[in-house]
Amino acid sequence: MRSGLQYIQRGVCLMKADLHIHSDVSDGSATIAQIIEAAKAKGLDAIAVTDHDTLSHRAQIPSDAGIQVLAGVELSTVHRKSNTQAHILGYNIKRPRRITALTEPLLEARNKNSERQAEILIGLGFRIETDKLARADGKYLYKQHIMDWLVATGQVPELFGDFYQTTFKRNGPCAFDIAYTDVFEALRAVKEAGGLAVLAHPGRQKNFWLIPKLVESGLDGLELNHHANGPQDREIIRDYADRFGLFLTGGSDYHGRYEPQPFGIGDFLSEDSGAQAICPAPVSILARSKLKREAQFK
Ligand SMILES: [Zn+2]
Ligand SMILES: [Zn+2]
Repeated sequence: MRSGLQYIQRGVCLMKADLHIHSDVSDGSATIAQIIEAAKAKGLDAIAVTDHDTLSHRAQIPSDAGIQVLAGVELSTVHRKSNTQAHILGYNIKRPRRITALTEPLLEARNKNSERQAEILIGLGFRIETDKLARADGKYLYKQHIMDWLVATGQVPELFGDFYQTTFKRNGPCAFDIAYTDVFEALRAVKEAGGLAVLAHPGRQKNFWLIPKLVESGLDGLELNHHANGPQDREIIRDYADRFGLFLTGGSDYHGRYEPQPFGIGDFLSEDSGAQAICPAPVSILARSKLKREAQFK
């Protein structure tokens, strides 16, 4: 029996934790400091910054943020045999070099891919000064940075309108992406790095059928509370969690203005089972709520 079963309990909310947030270290628009401010304003107890394919944000997280701020990672992967995409969230990574060995080549490939997209747009007559574009972690170009530049310089009216759809999606001239890591390789890296592995938003990719195979390779949890998981998806996710003793998480998948999302940090929260498994110091939270209670009676 997997030890994860102990995490499954429902109905009690001990901690308000948004465990899926992107910063400007990958393809989000907000800085870590802005994210922490927003989380505090929302009254959260804990957040996890889960930037794509990097742990570079670890260095930017202050030790005295006033709430728990964790550094996780989100890995975009593919199940090669079926060509099914899967996003793996990694938390509590103890040996970051095991992760960066996998992700550094991906970041370089992502940067090259986006540089090529910028060159194509320049060839089509757009004015793009590549040395002036914002970059993830100051280094890596994403298509969001190209779009941001085109909007800021008045060449395109909006970030996610027709231009985006016909250029970066469908059969557009920039509709190409990097080759993703194999899902089992990514999962193995998270486990060998001493971390906890969670399948992100399975309702988006409809990759539920992969869950038993991922559990065999060490999957610890499933992301339940996510805007891409519909009511039926959530039932399926809960069933899998019960069956395999997995904890359940949740988060906003916040990207700031770099994603067309009508919600913010803290609008989707982790289930307690996930928060308890991932957030290391619930004791301080309990102590804080005890202080709050005492203050009420003074
Ligand atoms: Zn994702
Ligand atoms: Zn994400």
